Amino acid sequence: MIARVEPLTTTRRLSGPFDYAADGLALQPGSIVRIPFGHQQLDGVVVSLAETTDVPAEKLVAPTSTREDTVPPDLVDLALWMAEEYCSTPARALAIVTPPPGKAKTFFYAEPTGETGKLTDKQRELMERLPGPAGKDLAALRRLEARGLVTIGERTERRTPRTNVTEDRTHDLTAAQQQALDAIDAGGSHLLHGVTGSGKTEVYLRAAQAALARGEGVIVLVPEIALTPQTVARFQARFGDTVALLHSALSEGERYDEWRRLRTGEARIAVGPRSAVFAPIENLGLIVVDEEHDASYKQDGDPRYDARHVAAFRAYQSGARLVAGSATPRPETVHTMHSLRLPARVETGAPRKPLVFADEPGAPGVIVGGARSAPAISARRPDGLPPVRILDMREAQHALHPETRRAILASRKSIVLLNRRGWSNFLSCKTCGKAWECPRCDVALVLHRAQHEIACHHCGHKEPVPKRCDACGSLAVARHGAGTERVEHELRQMLDVPIFRLDADTTQAKDAVPELLARFHAAPAGLLLGTQMVAKGHDFPDVTLGVVLDADSTLRFPDFRAEERTFALIAQLAGRAGRGPKGGRVLVQTRSPDAPSILAAANHDSDGFLREELARRRAHDYPPFADLIRVVTSATAPEPARAAAVAIAEQVKVPETELLGPAPLFRLRDRDRYQLVLKTHQRGAAIHAVGVAVEEAARTKAFKEVNFSVDVDPV
Ligand code: ADP
Ligand code: ZN
Ligand code: ZN
Repeated sequence: MIARVEPLTTTRRLSGPFDYAADGLALQPGSIVRIPFGHQQLDGVVVSLAETTDVPAEKLVAPTSTREDTVPPDLVDLALWMAEEYCSTPARALAIVTPPPGKAKTFFYAEPTGETGKLTDKQRELMERLPGPAGKDLAALRRLEARGLVTIGERTERRTPRTNVTEDRTHDLTAAQQQALDAIDAGGSHLLHGVTGSGKTEVYLRAAQAALARGEGVIVLVPEIALTPQTVARFQARFGDTVALLHSALSEGERYDEWRRLRTGEARIAVGPRSAVFAPIENLGLIVVDEEHDASYKQDGDPRYDARHVAAFRAYQSGARLVAGSATPRPETVHTMHSLRLPARVETGAPRKPLVFADEPGAPGVIVGGARSAPAISARRPDGLPPVRILDMREAQHALHPETRRAILASRKSIVLLNRRGWSNFLSCKTCGKAWECPRCDVALVLHRAQHEIACHHCGHKEPVPKRCDACGSLAVARHGAGTERVEHELRQMLDVPIFRLDADTTQAKDAVPELLARFHAAPAGLLLGTQMVAKGHDFPDVTLGVVLDADSTLRFPDFRAEERTFALIAQLAGRAGRGPKGGRVLVQTRSPDAPSILAAANHDSDGFLREELARRRAHDYPPFADLIRVVTSATAPEPARAAAVAIAEQVKVPETELLGPAPLFRLRDRDRYQLVLKTHQRGAAIHAVGVAVEEAARTKAFKEVNFSVDVDPV
């Protein structure tokens, strides 16, 4: 028997698989082996078994060892598909599906056999606290074991991830929820399109329950665990230890144990961010992608997979149902999946308890404050959503519109979104016009006043705040624009309620995000200010005001997704306000008050937005009507990067495919970059052609110093 093994090395491109002798070894596709490879020993994954090989018998060697944990065979197939689909390598794709490092933590557990015998006082004491862990008394217990008085066995200790607690409230489904659930149970893939608070999570929970009842496993994908603790908590509240959590903030031991519980079938529901799509679940019956519009589903490094696309493949591969849910679904999802609608917010009325940490004193049971009467400005539309007002900032002198000021002062609990961190977005000399730029990237440095530095948001370069212009010596340095740090400063001057700032600068410590959110949740009055992090799926029932500052910031990016992003950001923020019985309202400050995406968001008109956006995409032949593949070349000088991109452009000749570029991108981390985009109606052929062309360019001597990156379906 021959085992075909892919070595798990990312150092260079090897075209595996390689054949090894497997006689007498219990190897299967998915087995993880240590293999002699040239002069080294490498880890590898068995991708298939064969009867014969071209390797001469005297050269054929066997793996040196085999790991106990294995990759489920369907995940081996998934990884090999992913390697092709994203122009990656089998090694890199397989590395993602292999078990996390580590092993089970075991301890000795002693139980009395019921036999009796003569005991010393000490031994009697010992016997009295059994059954229990042996601990430091193992030696003494071993002597009793030898006399047949106790048995000692090995047990596994589960390292349990820290989680939030919430109470489980089941509901009789509304007619719309029941219809959606019936459609999901009937099979296939569905988009669950419903405003925030319309009861989508309750539908996922019921669909998961139905899958478990059929003996099937479930995967639930969420954007970022720290930002969506409620969804996780609700799954755990309903299904207990059947739920395993998979995310990057777990310790190595926790991650291993959660993986192992899924692999053995002890846990049947995996909840986690994008990588949870690779959870080792057998007989998978349902995959849920919550907040399917979220950009975090796309992986940034090689392989640049999109968990939504991988989820669709995995559902197809295993015959599982697929449900993607969102209040602001992507145009491509609306176009390609069957839509189920939840038209209005579920009216709950009942006060809800806030989420608290399980290890917080007194948990659970902190009562939400805010007993005072609601400000008169709150309101509710027939669909339960808060009314949205657009504030024209074209003539504005201050960061906050007077109406925004008044509303913030009148509201006990508010959320303010400004998608830009720091104090000022750039500095310039009033005398000679010099602008402070990153020495390594072609971008402006952002002022962070609290840290006394100006920083590059792309590479992390930092320098002290300039006191004078180093070009002309002038002391007049102008600060332009406002970020979250500056707005926080302004708000502190006008408010005496606590202000919670949520952005990358305030949340570097472990658990900072959930702790900050929990504090805002528990506060009777307060203001949550931050970047797009504040618009994610939080559920704060007592927030009556939502504010978006500089709503057109996302529109200024030259990207075909600019409208989609702008709409989603405003609509999601609007979804955070007015969830409780008091209702609420939303203010949107913008210099583009007529932009269709902003108007549509203000009207909560997601159908209208999607209709127009799909028409625009069709007219310009953008996804979902064509596929995009992006190739970026980079080097320490412009010329090799440009030449390499040109060489690739000349090589890829695919019918029904348009080439855009190569065009220069801004310099990043001391590297000049060029980008080539393929717009294609022949996805498979184009991916293949790009893979071949990039590999050839990478082997070309003249491009030795050039780095290549391929991004299929860039976001
Ligand atoms: P979404 O996921 O769409 O934001 P949720 O499922 O979180 O919506 O529902 C919003 C709130 O309404 C939650 O507090 C939930 O417990 C409650 N809820 C959901 N379905 C019902 C129902 N059928 N009847 C009453 N309350 C419900
Ligand atoms: Zn100057
Ligand atoms: Zn930089």
